[in-house]
Formats: sequence, C-alpha cells, structure tokens
Amino acid sequence: MGTEEAETDLLTSDPGTSGRFGNFGGCFIPETLVPACQELEIAFREAWADEQFHSELDRLLADYAGRPSPLTICGRLSEELGTSVLLKREDLNHTGSHKINNVLGQALLAKRMGKSRLVAETGAGQHGVATATAAALFGLECEVYMGEVDMERQALNVFRMRLLGAEVRPATTGSRTLKDAVNEALRDWVATVETTHYCLGSVMGPHPYPWMVREFHRVIGSEAREQCLKQVGKLPNTVVACVGGGSNAAGIFSGFANDSQVRLVGVEPAGAATVGRKVPGVLHGSLSYLLQDEFGQVSEAESISAGLDYPGVGPEHSYLADTGRAEYHCVTDEEVVEAFGLLSRTEGIMPALEPAHALAWISRERADLAGEVVLLNLSGRGDKDAAQMVEYFK
Ligand SMILES: *Cc1c(COP(=O)(O)O)cnc(C)c1O
Repeated sequence: MGTEEAETDLLTSDPGTSGRFGNFGGCFIPETLVPACQELEIAFREAWADEQFHSELDRLLADYAGRPSPLTICGRLSEELGTSVLLKREDLNHTGSHKINNVLGQALLAKRMGKSRLVAETGAGQHGVATATAAALFGLECEVYMGEVDMERQALNVFRMRLLGAEVRPATTGSRTLKDAVNEALRDWVATVETTHYCLGSVMGPHPYPWMVREFHRVIGSEAREQCLKQVGKLPNTVVACVGGGSNAAGIFSGFANDSQVRLVGVEPAGAATVGRKVPGVLHGSLSYLLQDEFGQVSEAESISAGLDYPGVGPEHSYLADTGRAEYHCVTDEEVVEAFGLLSRTEGIMPALEPAHALAWISRERADLAGEVVLLNLSGRGDKDAAQMVEYFK
C-alpha cells in the first residue's frame, strides 16, 4: 500500500497494516512478537469501530479521569508575553498528566482481548503510575519496568506504583534508564504474550502503537479545538507541545491536522533534540529519527526532565517534520527552569518540567508571536518536579 499511504492526511490517517508514516514507522520486531502485534492491531481496529467500546472509554474518561479538561485563558501571562496564551489543562486529569487517556484505552482493550496482566515501561514514573492505576481499576496484574537510576531519582513514584498493587522491576542494563526499561518490557512481553498486554506509554514502538496511542490521545485535540472556538471565537494561530516520545503533541496536533493555517510546533530538550538532528535509525520496533553516534549506536539523551529523556521520537513526528506540517525546536534547561517559575508566578499553575519546555519556547519567541493566539498543551502538573526545583528558587 506504500504509494497510497503517502497521500493520506497527516495526523488523521490510518497507517494501514504496514504501519508506515511516509518512510517512517513500521514493525521491526523479533519474530516471536509478530503474532502479538498483529493480534493487537486487529483487536484495536475492531474496538475502535465499536460504539460500545467508545462509550465505555468516554464514560471512564469523564467519570474517572475528569474529562473534558478545561481550556484556560491566561490573563497575566499573556500580558507579560504580549501574546495571548491558552492552556489545555491535561495537568488536571487524574494522576496528573495526559498519560491516563492512553492507559485507560489500552487497559480497556486488554480486558477485551482477555488479557489478565499489563506490563509497562516508565521513565520518570508517570506512565508507570497511570498503568498501575488502570490495573487497580480493572483488577489486572501489573508489572512496571523502570531503570535502576530512575528508581532512585523518582522514589516517590516507585512507592505510588507499589501502593497501587504493581510490581516495580529495575532495569539494570545499559544506562539503566527509560530506553533500557523498554527493552526489559519487550523481553517480558515476548515470554508472556498469551496472558499479557504491553501497555506502551507513547507514540513509539512497533505498529500499531504509534497510531493507536495517537488515537487514544486524539481527545486532547478535539476538545481543545472546540473549546478554543467557543471561548476565543477563533482557532489558535499556533499550537505548541513538548516532545519526548511525542504522545501529548500528537494528541493535540491531531485536532488541528486539517487546519493548514494553524502552525504546529513541537519542543524538545536541547540534550535530546532527536527530530532536530534528523538522523534516522531503528529503535524499539520502528524507524524514526534517533540520537546516535557516528557508529549508529544509540546515544544517551540528557535533559533536566526525566520524562523527555528518550533518545527516540514517534515515527509520525519524523514524518511531520519532513513534510513541514510541524516544526520542531529545542530549548535549554535554563530556559525551562525560568518557564517553570514564570507560569507558577503569573497564573498560579505549577507546570511539569516537560510542558515547561513548550512555554520556554513561547517565551523566547514572544516577539515573533506578538498579538497571536497560542495554544499550549499543559501535559502535566509540576508536583513531581517540585523537590528537584528547590535549589533553583532559593
Ligand atoms: C511522559 C510525559 C511527557 C512526555 O511524553 P510524550 O509522549 O512526549 O507526551 C510529557 N509531559 C508529561 C507531563 C509527561 O508525564
């Protein structure tokens, strides 16, 4: 289906059975996982076409996660920056970030597939906590792989996951961070596919994950578009989101895919500017831009925010960058710390460090954005980062 796919609409397309976004994506996995990915694709296609699945998921998103999340028009911040800033408040979801949208979708799908167990990877712990939460809600067993280094850095989230009934297993290979946790989770899945669903946390990995996870986050963009028209009377000029694996960005971008006048901007940490460097490679089952050294070895990402500390990026973002539909920029840790303080001080909202990247870009580009309406996806709240920020605000 190769040639047809290139003509499908960006961010709205079904990438077909090959899971390709242009040249990116695909399904580069060990043979033992091929049936599992195929089973998952079929189950997701069926569920996504089923009214009852949608109504069950919508009810959970409303009654359990707290959707729709509000759209906040920022008065004091807008005055300070000279551009009208709107926040999509994913920080107000249950468990404190956008991650719950995807996890509730996948947990419901796992149930439907007759699986009794979830495995997940986690970096800073937000996806692990969201998965453990959904597992508790649905009565599923749950095991979360987390880099040993991250377990030390994010001890509170380790406690939260254990309290929720999940087993947290240290990933002890490589750099002992997120990349290694994904490897461990994939290894577990290979051995347990009969009973287990791998609840992957971003728009990455083998097909159908990048597409499926984007669809589960589409609700962010759909709500935001409608709220923007209702509350501001027009569409935003620019939509900005931080990019780790790229799920919160894909979710909000998808709402504006067909509004070609709306500029889409993804913001990466300077130490993990994956899309910015444009070197393709295969990691964790898909072809995308990838941080790597001159020998093609995956390099370590480095960022103040553990949630963006991933050397890859979802394949659709690589495609969006290549086609020019979205742009990707990066900001430094210093700019992020400043943005963290700025939103707290001007609006009484403490952002997670990840979306503080997006605000940092808006703040830096304020002269260019003067007079515009800018929509920022506030993907999570900053409580988890407060302790880390203490030393910067003495
Ligand atoms: C996990 C996380 C991210 C990064 O993941 P994406 O898939 O790029 O969205 C961003 N913001 C918050 C609050 C997160 O918890």
